[in-house]
Amino acid sequence: MDALVCDFIFRRSPDGILIATADGIIADMNPGAAVLLGIPPESVIGSHTSKSFHNNPALMALFNRPGDQTLDVRLPRKRLASGVASTLADGRRIVLLHDVTERRDLDSRREALSTTMAHDLRNPISALAGYADLVARTGDLNHDQTYFLQRVRQTAQKLHDVAGELVDLVWLEAGMPLKHIPIEFRPVLDAVIEALTPLAENKQITIIVSVQDPLPLLIGDPDRIHQVLYKVLHNALLYSDEEQIVAVHAWGDDQQLYCSVADRGIGIAEDELDLVFDRLFRSKDERVLALPGGGLGLTIARRIVQRHGGDIWATSTFGRGSTFTFMLPSVKT
Ligand code: ADP
Repeated sequence: MDALVCDFIFRRSPDGILIATADGIIADMNPGAAVLLGIPPESVIGSHTSKSFHNNPALMALFNRPGDQTLDVRLPRKRLASGVASTLADGRRIVLLHDVTERRDLDSRREALSTTMAHDLRNPISALAGYADLVARTGDLNHDQTYFLQRVRQTAQKLHDVAGELVDLVWLEAGMPLKHIPIEFRPVLDAVIEALTPLAENKQITIIVSVQDPLPLLIGDPDRIHQVLYKVLHNALLYSDEEQIVAVHAWGDDQQLYCSVADRGIGIAEDELDLVFDRLFRSKDERVLALPGGGLGLTIARRIVQRHGGDIWATSTFGRGSTFTFMLPSVKT
């Protein structure tokens, strides 16, 4: 990068840039650092870091600790910066400060919201189930009482599950950070199938798998991609009759990875196909309503796929089966 560009970045960057000589004298400081630290450059340039920043231990540490360092630095007016420091080839020390006050506030508000939701929704629901258990232990119940208590327990369980999914969705929509690491899709697929094998065996459904070899790598959050596939395959098993076949197919190139899950289950009516990814949507079909589910699984799956830069869609013939396909960006290997 040429000197003009470097000078422009130094003068105009809202991030703070501070440079100290090898023996700790502040050699330069940009206007961004002056604003963040609330001190004019001329009051610190030429003086020693230990004199100018003695009341800011994190900033001192960034100058004094050897090698690359990353630390949170407290700024005036209760603001907070993320500080990064490194030693240049000529021995000078450079420190960059990036104001993260708003982002951290948002993170802690998000956390508070989801903790409150989890606590305020789930605890009363658990209490409900607990009291139903207690009533059952108070003495002999007649047939109707036993049946109604069973319904209370089932409803409480359903509410508990929906509350969990709602918290998940709120997190995702609030921009909860996702992992961004290279992922091999095959192990994710194997783990999902293993987790759902008891359900498949219970309904004597055969899961057929065909996977291109090699498959491209993905970049993203493995747990979240597991969650997408789990939800789609779980639905395929749930909404299929016994002794059916469910086929999982994965393929891709160096731009996209596709995974489709095809079932020969109850299918989705044409006028409902666009709605299945909407929050809380459940088909009016009585075979669906007879099964547990909160209508949030596919909404969460779509949100996760979109947050990875991908897409998810469904095709279906009512009464004959459905195919759910999702696409995620892959990486060149
Ligand atoms: P849930 O399954 O918990 O009800 P989802 O968001 O996963 O919620 O699915 C929403 C609705 O889409 C389901 O209630 C059902 O009506 C329909 N659906 C999803 N997958 C299938 C499928 N494989 N076959 C038929 N209907 C499906």
